Formats: sequence, structure tokens, C-alpha cells
Amino acid sequence: MHTPSRRHFLHSTVVVALTVIAAMLSQAPAAEPKRPNIVFIFSDDHAYQAISAYGESRKLIDTPNLDRIANEGVRFNRCVVPNSICGPSRATVLTGKYNHINGFVNNTNFKFDGSQMTFPKLMQAAGYQTAMIGKWHLINDPTGFDFWQILPDQGQYYNPPMIRNGERITIGGYVTDIITDVSLDWLKKRDKTKPFVLMCQHKAPHREWEPALRHLDFDHDRKYVEPATLFDDYNGRGIAEHDQDMTLEKTMTPKDTKLVPPPQLTAEQRKEWDAYYEPRNEAFKKANLSGKELVSWRYQRYMHDYLACIKAVDESVGRVLKYLDDEGLAENTLVVYSADQGFYLGEHGWFDKRWIFEESLRTPLLIRWPGVAKPGLVSNDIVSNLDFAETFLDVAGMPVPAEMQGRSFVPILKGTTPADWRKSFYYEYYEYPTPHHVRPHYGVVTDRYKLIHFNATKDAYWELFDLKKDPQELRSVYGFTEYADTQKQLEMELQRLRVELKVPEKTPPSWFGTKPFDD
Ligand code: CA
Repeated sequence: MHTPSRRHFLHSTVVVALTVIAAMLSQAPAAEPKRPNIVFIFSDDHAYQAISAYGESRKLIDTPNLDRIANEGVRFNRCVVPNSICGPSRATVLTGKYNHINGFVNNTNFKFDGSQMTFPKLMQAAGYQTAMIGKWHLINDPTGFDFWQILPDQGQYYNPPMIRNGERITIGGYVTDIITDVSLDWLKKRDKTKPFVLMCQHKAPHREWEPALRHLDFDHDRKYVEPATLFDDYNGRGIAEHDQDMTLEKTMTPKDTKLVPPPQLTAEQRKEWDAYYEPRNEAFKKANLSGKELVSWRYQRYMHDYLACIKAVDESVGRVLKYLDDEGLAENTLVVYSADQGFYLGEHGWFDKRWIFEESLRTPLLIRWPGVAKPGLVSNDIVSNLDFAETFLDVAGMPVPAEMQGRSFVPILKGTTPADWRKSFYYEYYEYPTPHHVRPHYGVVTDRYKLIHFNATKDAYWELFDLKKDPQELRSVYGFTEYADTQKQLEMELQRLRVELKVPEKTPPSWFGTKPFDD
């Protein structure tokens, strides 16, 4: 009886010892794992409705390269922005903070304070190579980048002037192609011993939506399906929705609709431009349209131009993905595609952005990270560009500073939403009255509801929308008896968020733009 038991004991000891050694060996890698690279491709005013991976009902365009990121990675259906305009969105991306904290609250009378903490600065200090190429739009020069080449202000589509590390230059060609060329060139010349962050930021498809000449006839005069709300009368909503200045009917200019060509074209480029637009413009003038017919014509022209700009952006994404493939970089690189906010493609009769409503609140977000992000995953969690800085630091294995106001969504990329992930989001828009005369407002967004306060004009008012019953946000139910409990809960949540996010109780009047309270 004694011997077998002793033998068994010895045998077990040997097995345990071998197991421990094996485990130790497997935990001792030969070298430190390589830190992931980040390629951040960011466009300006790219509506999720214009990415085929989002499956919008009008099926406006095929974007095979953007769809590739979605198929090989994660598509976020509800990436929302804290303030739906260009500069403020960019300031949020860099800082992981709301605009009332990072100080860039509107495009009209603010500059970005480049001395503050940003994620590129932190990653640069941690040994990452950093580059910022393309549209910057934060007025002051970029900080925290080893290399930068930006468009001054809004930039131009053809033959754009650029500023390279402080030096003014002009480059011939089409802006989306140029930004891609410069980005790939920087990748080729980079120090290959270091990880990198590349911010490749397009001007396209910002107004006035000027396509590459090779894409002028890309849709062969296709007739696009009109959105159901193209002729919205704004009934069921307040004065802000009625007196804005962003409709196809009243706001679109002859330059927007290409009845006037862009002045920056060379004679050669102008010839190609005219060959496409002139016969179509002549036919338009002859038709002498008015009323709804004129709005419908403008919608078709707008879709042609806007979507043609997207074609070049999609091609650019394809070139970057190919470079990563060819160089063997794809495996260890996080590829992000997003835009600074959403955009109206004729919904509610509008173009532009600014509102807390879905089309402008939601921005596209597609992320590929081989071996980590779950391929083909679709997330309906509320994430935001407020979370980008935190997420990128997390991807690099770096700590997230407590002063940042978003949260890393790396767990969501891996397929697990943390139990305490946010269920609500705070939004605030300030810029008024120009451009576009959209009244300042703030509010809280959940998966189903929006409570909004138009706060900065003498006739302030509230709205409440039930997205489940009214996905197009056509009828405010604020003050309706059946929503009394919901309204109360949302009011409390809004107040809780304002305190948590340190929103000033009273907004300084200067934040509203050039001429607040003018009506
Ligand atoms: Ca924008």
C-alpha cells in the first residue's frame, strides 16, 4: 500500500515541476512586444450615410476600401460627438475633453491652445513618432508632432497651399491625393525602429464638395433617391428648426451647385471641369426650375459632387491599407476611420451639421486591429470622439490621465462592453448666429431619447424626442403627459452630466460666437 502511493507522489511532483517550468518559459518572451502603430484617417463632414458599410437605405455609394476596415474590424453605429462642428471636434480628439474644458468652443472667435496636453504629445514623449498631415483647422500651429504638413484654415481642393513644419508651399493637384501622397511618403521615410502615430486628415468632403476631375462622371448621371424628409416643414418642432439657414432651398449658393467654377483651377483643369459641368448647367438653365423642382435638382447635384469627393477618400483609404499590407505593417497597426462629425445629405431639407439630431450627432467610426478587434463586429454602444485619445493611449499601453473626460473603448473592440459603460451622453453646441443660424443648444442623448434645451436666445425652449417611435425626430414630445416620468429622469441625468463634466452653470456669452442674443 505504501509504495504505490509514494510513487504516485513522486510522479505528481515531477508533473507539477514540469508544468511550472513550461509556464515560466511561455511567459518569458524573447523580446518586448512591439507597440502597435496607429493610423488615424479623419475626413471632414463625412456622413455615415455615405459609407456603404453603414447600409443606408438610399444606397448612395459603394465604398469598398472603407468597408474593408468594417469587415476586418469593428463598425460603430453610435459614435457621437460632443459639439458637431470642425474645430471643436478636432480639439476634442486631441485632448479627450469637452470644449468647455479644452477652450475651443466655436470656429468663429477661438484658437486652440496648443500648450495643453494632447494624446500626440504624450505618445511622442513615450517614444512614438508622430505626424499630422492634411486638414488641421485649429488656427494655431500643431504641437506634439515630429512632422506636420497642414492646409491653412479650410484649405482648397485644387492646387492647395500647405504649411510644412512652418514653411508655406503650394502643391499642384487634388487635395485628397496630395494628403495621401504626403502621408505615404512620411511612412516610407520614418524611423523604422520606432512605433508611429499618423494622423491623415482630409479636407474632403467639406463644402463646396469639389470632386477630383477623374471622378466627375463617376456616377454616369445617376438619379439619387431623395430622403423622405427633403421637404420637411419643421412642424412639431420649435423656432430653432424653423429659422436656421442651412437648406438646399434657401442657403445653397451657385458655387455650391457648380454653376460657378472654383477659381483655383488651372486652365488645363478648367477645361476638364467645364467639359463635364457646362452642358449640364446649360440644360439646367433652360429648364428654368423653381420650388420643389429646383430643390430636387440641387439635391441631385449635391449628391453627385459630395459622393464624388467620397470616391477619392475611399481610394485614399485603399492606398493606405495597401501600403500597410505591402510593408507587413497591417498586423501591428490600429487603423481608424472617422470624421469630425456627421452631415446632412438632404434630410430635413438640409446640408451642414451643428445639431444634436442624429445625422449631425453621429459620426462614422470604423476600426481595424488584427488579432485584437473582433472582425465584423457591429457595436451599438455610445462611444465618442471624446474617447479617441484615451483609446489610443490604452492601445499603446500607456496610462490615461485622470483629467481626460472620455474612456478607452478597447474592451468594446475586443467584443466585451464593460457593465458600467455610459448609457447617456452630453452634447453642447455654441456657434451663433453665423454661419447657418443654428441656435445654441445642449442636451442629453440616450439609446432611445434626447432632451434638448435651446438656451441662448430670448425665446429659450425645450424639446424631447423618442427615437424609437420617431426615428426621424419630427415631433417633440416635451411636456406630454405620457412622457412625464421619462422627461423627469432625463432632466436629472442632464443635470448629473453637467456637474460630472464641469459644465459652467451659466455659459459665458463670448462662447456663443460673434453676435449672441441678436434676435
Ligand atoms: Ca467638419
